[in-house]
Amino acid sequence: MSPSTVVDHEFTLSLPKTELHAHLTGSISRETLHQIWLSQLPASLPSSSSSSSSSSSSSSPLPSPQAPSPPPSPPPSHQQHPPGLPDPYISLPDPGCISSINLSTFFPLFDKYIYTLVSSPSPVQTATRAVLQDFCDDGVRLLELRTTPRESSQMTKREYVEAVSEVIGDWNLDPKNGTAMQVYLLLSVDRKVSPSEAEQVVALAREFQYHPHKPHRAEPETQTTAERQGKDKVPSNWVVGLDLCGNPLKGTSTLPEFTPSFALARRSGLGITIHFAEVPESGTPSELSTLLSWQPQRLGHAVHVPEKVKQIIKQRGLCLELCLSCNVIAKLTEGGFGGHHFGEWWHECESERRAGENNNLKIALGTDDVGVFGSPLSRDYLLAAEHFGLGKRDLVGLCRSAASAAFAGRERMGELIDEFENFVELQAPATKQAVA
Ligand SMILES: [Zn+2]
Repeated sequence: MSPSTVVDHEFTLSLPKTELHAHLTGSISRETLHQIWLSQLPASLPSSSSSSSSSSSSSSPLPSPQAPSPPPSPPPSHQQHPPGLPDPYISLPDPGCISSINLSTFFPLFDKYIYTLVSSPSPVQTATRAVLQDFCDDGVRLLELRTTPRESSQMTKREYVEAVSEVIGDWNLDPKNGTAMQVYLLLSVDRKVSPSEAEQVVALAREFQYHPHKPHRAEPETQTTAERQGKDKVPSNWVVGLDLCGNPLKGTSTLPEFTPSFALARRSGLGITIHFAEVPESGTPSELSTLLSWQPQRLGHAVHVPEKVKQIIKQRGLCLELCLSCNVIAKLTEGGFGGHHFGEWWHECESERRAGENNNLKIALGTDDVGVFGSPLSRDYLLAAEHFGLGKRDLVGLCRSAASAAFAGRERMGELIDEFENFVELQAPATKQAVA
């Protein structure tokens, strides 16, 4: 095999990738959380106790995700830090050694730590900006970020969504950033909430819904004085879909009560994506039947899917959002990377293609929670190549598959992928022959 046919990280980094399954809060790096934690220390705290990394953070960018963690320094006492939280470098698992992460340890990371640290609009916006930059640096060109509207003593759920939307609007409307990566938002319904809370999420999704032909934000010259002062300002509308998420071991019995909410979202033109059959307990015929009745276009994870339901997925031509590193590290699947069900579904897609069928079935690789699992999307593309024998052309096809399942921005991504493919062919004519 000539060097030009070898799939390496340089190639997967350069692929024009679409990320469809990423949770905002789970995508915040420990480095960003550390910066937020530092910013919340009382000003009177001696600077020497702000950990050794603070000396570099004031004069240089955040460390890269691959950078080793700074040596842990003695954390300030709980009395000194308003939320009573120790340094994220000490409290959160190092993505480099997270073999202890599983369903019972994963969700408490958020409930007991991150939600407390990131609990007002300012840190929410800081975190969102950093997350967008991280995805962009990894070569993601279209991002659908999902998040569950949260409230705290310092913000309402609406203020939370508004804070995130503003950052996305600023990003998309910035000529440099918006050209590099387009970002849309999905709002998530946590499966443990009440039906009325689910209705609230749908109401927010509709209020902040993206409409391609409507202005996203008032032009400065058209703003009233009140708008310039921040009152009644036109919100940035970037929501393109609704998600069902949360601990798959909880809330199963109340799912049918969400049906009207998801039906309203569908009628409103929002895309539907569902965390689907993550564990055996959430892969029962009854639950899967309820979820499929919501007419989702995309299914997240889809680990424990009965054969009958697999046929429905194929017939409907749904998109499977598959998260290799997350599933393997959290032990949602067995057999390591080589045993991941990506292999089975990739084979299905290839069979459809070879049979000349419409190739409706789609796969979108996703990171899920890169802040916890530490594997950027470019790495998961590389892992797919390594463990399932995918060549460069296959990976470009995988990019095309993910882009085709996006709820918005498909056309632009198609053009970007065409450009990339032409470039690859020009630079490496042996590629297609090698993988054909
Ligand atoms: Zn997820």
